[in-house]
Amino acid sequence: MIAKTSIDHELCFSLLDWYDREKRDLPWRNTKDPWLILLSEVILQQTQVSRGILYWKRISERFPTVKSMARSDVDELLLLWQGAGYYSRARRLHALAVIVSTNEAEGGYDGIIPREYEELVKLPGIGPYTAAAVASIAFNTPVPVVDGNVNRVASRLLADPNPSLKAIRSWGQSLLHRDRPGDSNQALMELGALVCKPRKPKCESCPLSSKCSGRGNAESFPERKKNRKKIEYINALVMVDPSGLPFLTRRDDNGRFGGLWGPPMGDVDTEAKEKIGEISHQLSHRELRVSVWRGTCSEGIDPKSVPISNLDSKILAMVLGS
Ligand code: SF4
Repeated sequence: MIAKTSIDHELCFSLLDWYDREKRDLPWRNTKDPWLILLSEVILQQTQVSRGILYWKRISERFPTVKSMARSDVDELLLLWQGAGYYSRARRLHALAVIVSTNEAEGGYDGIIPREYEELVKLPGIGPYTAAAVASIAFNTPVPVVDGNVNRVASRLLADPNPSLKAIRSWGQSLLHRDRPGDSNQALMELGALVCKPRKPKCESCPLSSKCSGRGNAESFPERKKNRKKIEYINALVMVDPSGLPFLTRRDDNGRFGGLWGPPMGDVDTEAKEKIGEISHQLSHRELRVSVWRGTCSEGIDPKSVPISNLDSKILAMVLGS
């Protein structure tokens, strides 16, 4: 168990000093616009920072305000989101934009991103982490964030292989600067990303090293969770028209790759079709092994005109060539 910590001014200032010197210059750190900050947090939920920058620029240029996204068709966002994966995020982000842009009398927020954690966490696609990040970074609300980086730093610093969420939040709260809680949160996550990394942490240059109980044995914290992925075997059928275009359908909104387009997949008739090859595709909790088949159709559509997942792009490239 972790002992409860009181406000730790030494670590709080040491961490912020380090952050002010070493933080990466990321585009969403140069704005206080809550919509653009929320957008960055949603993109970064499951996309690496280097790629997240590209998507954030692309989407924020097209949708500079929450209302501009609310007025658009979700398919336009899905097209911009193409390649970032986890497309349900994009659909939930669009639903969020619609709700926020709705009049207050009709249950919305008049186009203003709510500032309270309790309101943010009610919105589509906004979990406790994203609500805390937006509340603290955009509105200076002193609420600690807990993500994978913060979990690792807390586990090591407190030498606890499996700290509870409550314990990490309590510890994170003790590091929040009264006037800069958003920066304190970002500093902790930045430290996990740049210094207290999963492998070979740079303890010699860590601003928290003087009070780190796990230093010297850092890589044994936190306890590693076994990650055995389920394997799912499915078929995909690419039917090609005489001009070389494939038949594509829009996937069901509530299913895998919902709202995106792709060739028929799953329960498809492969009789008298030509097997082209197999593709292995990693999802967060399972591995898909896709047998790719080729058939013919009378009329296909241009794949560049619709949003398509990475997996479907690979399937089409296998049959059509890239
Ligand atoms: S001293 Fe090392 S293990 Fe401890 S928080 Fe810093 S980088 Fe992580």
